[in-house]
Amino acid sequence: MRQNKKVLIIGAGPAGLSAARVLSENGYSVEIFELDSQVGGMSKSIELFSQIVDIGPHRFFSKDTRLNDFWHIHTNGEYEKVSRLTRIFYNRKFFYYPLRGFDALFKLGFVESTLCVLSYIKAKISPFKGDSFESWVANAFGYRLYSIFFKSYTEKLWGIKCSELDSDFAAQRIKGLNLYEAIKSAFFGGGGKKHKTLVDEFSYPKKGCGVVYENMKQEIIKRGGVVHCGVEVLGIKTQSKKAVGIHTNKGEFSGDIVISTAPFRDMVLSLEELDSSVKEMAGRLKFRNTILVYVEVGDSRISLSNSSPQAESPQTKETQLFKDNWIYVHSKDTQTGRITNFANWTKDLQCGQDSAILCLEYWANDDEALWNLDDNALSEIAKRDLLESKLVADSSLIKNTSVLKIHKSYPVYERGYKDNLHKIYKALDSFKDLYFIGRNGSFKYNNQDHSILMGLMCADKILGRECDLWHINTDYDYQEGGKSE
Ligand SMILES: Cc1cc2nc3c(=O)[nH]c(=O)nc-3n(C[C@H](O)[C@H](O)[C@H](O)COP(=O)(O)OP(=O)(O)OC[C@H]3O[C@@H](n4cnc5c(N)ncnc54)[C@H](O)[C@@H]3O)c2cc1C
Repeated sequence: MRQNKKVLIIGAGPAGLSAARVLSENGYSVEIFELDSQVGGMSKSIELFSQIVDIGPHRFFSKDTRLNDFWHIHTNGEYEKVSRLTRIFYNRKFFYYPLRGFDALFKLGFVESTLCVLSYIKAKISPFKGDSFESWVANAFGYRLYSIFFKSYTEKLWGIKCSELDSDFAAQRIKGLNLYEAIKSAFFGGGGKKHKTLVDEFSYPKKGCGVVYENMKQEIIKRGGVVHCGVEVLGIKTQSKKAVGIHTNKGEFSGDIVISTAPFRDMVLSLEELDSSVKEMAGRLKFRNTILVYVEVGDSRISLSNSSPQAESPQTKETQLFKDNWIYVHSKDTQTGRITNFANWTKDLQCGQDSAILCLEYWANDDEALWNLDDNALSEIAKRDLLESKLVADSSLIKNTSVLKIHKSYPVYERGYKDNLHKIYKALDSFKDLYFIGRNGSFKYNNQDHSILMGLMCADKILGRECDLWHINTDYDYQEGGKSE
């Protein structure tokens, strides 16, 4: 069983930890280097205002049995089934997503709904051409519905026009879903099968999604693995196109195999033996940043004195906030694109506190003014968004704010990005014992499940099983058929 091989892993997010977990169990000596002071990557949980929060909403879902078992084992049985409620906030009204026939009809009004259906029929008769996000969604839902429910959020998120965004984003996230399917599901149910986007219950660790990754770390350490936190990896060392080590801000480390989950562009550019034309292509790949503004709202004392007779559900009674896990905000008047309410996930996240913590998401590039604002200015934007939209009734309910900036959180699927990316992947295939996995690590818009799967399959590959790591995301979704039981 003892392999006597040392594996150096860059990054302790879901992908790096999953690979380390399997390899450490199979006799490899693993050493993980993590920039942050804790593990979990973008899927960590943190303590804030005496409660627990995630980095925005983190719903885990997969119908792959191996993946589900692997994830559930690492909750140590401490998880709950959470009913999912996610709506679109548009025109100060909440629309169920997926659309519910009468709900959407009533809230959009008869005339607008009829125009939406006509626009869908038009797209069926004469489809939009091209491979942009805009044409993909307009063909699936009709242009009118696309411009109401998809355009504003998507353009805020990516910072480019939907016509410049590759259809991959839509294909990966809403594949198999269209207006007809959504309406059919709304009126007649899904016949036992549901699109992944429509799944209405999910498992969630009672104390935050990061618990899974803290538990993975413990299992790795039990098997002799080492996890260094607070270490920045600056580059990967190769000799004769074979990985032999890494450079870090704490010195050099040698190993037999290197797995990177750090931003793809940076690590690819660090390879001295890589052709300069390939590096030039890698240099053109773009990442988008996320700004999270956490806002602590209300407590039962304040909100009960303000409560209206309509506020009936326990969650709305305490804080009078929306009862969704998260909402998408489709409005040009607010800068935020999505808001999570952690009080609607599990009671344990609140750690006995009465207040609710909201998390407002903003996105920006390095050179945008928003990214360079200080915490006070960002908190003011978040407060204004909440108050002007009336999502929070009164400024006296806002108790605290805290800002978290995540550099390089989304690989940008600009139209045409794939051509370059596939050439880079091909060039990297000529390197031995070097693997690039994970969301930023392989430049794929992964969820946790995809990153865990990449970690597991990378370990499989090192253990001698055949698999093509570059195509996990799309092929894997394809096997799922976009439907879940
Ligand atoms: C706002 C938001 C909401 C999300 N919602 C969901 C959701 O609902 N469901 C879901 O499944 N997924 C969700 N995700 C995606 C999920 O967070 C990621 O898919 C997952 O964390 C990716 O895991 P990873 O290991 O590939 O990368 P990461 O989580 O990014 O981990 C990579 C690690 O590498 C470290 N690192 C980077 N550079 C270096 C370096 N030079 N040296 C050392 N260490 C380095 C980082 O600090 C990080 O810890 C969301 C993400 C965001 C930002």
